[in-house]
Amino acid sequence: MTSKSQVKTVCGYCGTGCGLILEVEDNKIVKIRGDKEAPVNKGQTCVKGAFAYQYVHAPERLNSPMIRKAGQLVKVSWQEAYDYISNRLSALKKDFGPDAISMFACARTTNESNYITQKFMRTVIGSNNIDGCNRT
Ligand code: SF4
Repeated sequence: MTSKSQVKTVCGYCGTGCGLILEVEDNKIVKIRGDKEAPVNKGQTCVKGAFAYQYVHAPERLNSPMIRKAGQLVKVSWQEAYDYISNRLSALKKDFGPDAISMFACARTTNESNYITQKFMRTVIGSNNIDGCNRT
């Protein structure tokens, strides 16, 4: 028996933040339409938001964090990945100072994510080394 559901979400392609409704069958997205209740797009989408979703089910897509151990990338839990990142950033900051660390934000993510990125860098790390990956 086929299982069908609809999932309300926000498009991940750019920072506009259009609301989408995913039509899901047997745990796979089969169609996307704009969410008419979303204040940003009121049911409209661009071509990417409506049709470019095949990457979600691509077999080579990373779907869990990985850490290199003994020269090999191995899948780890999110908690292990967060602990690893936290420990490495703390060690780098202690050994080399906050300016040894930089972070890249991205124009394709949301304003809120970019805001949190710069806030984290300035208040937690203590560095202004923030840049965007779209700058040429
Ligand atoms: S539907 Fe298009 S404009 Fe809207 S968030 Fe997605 S990529 Fe951006």
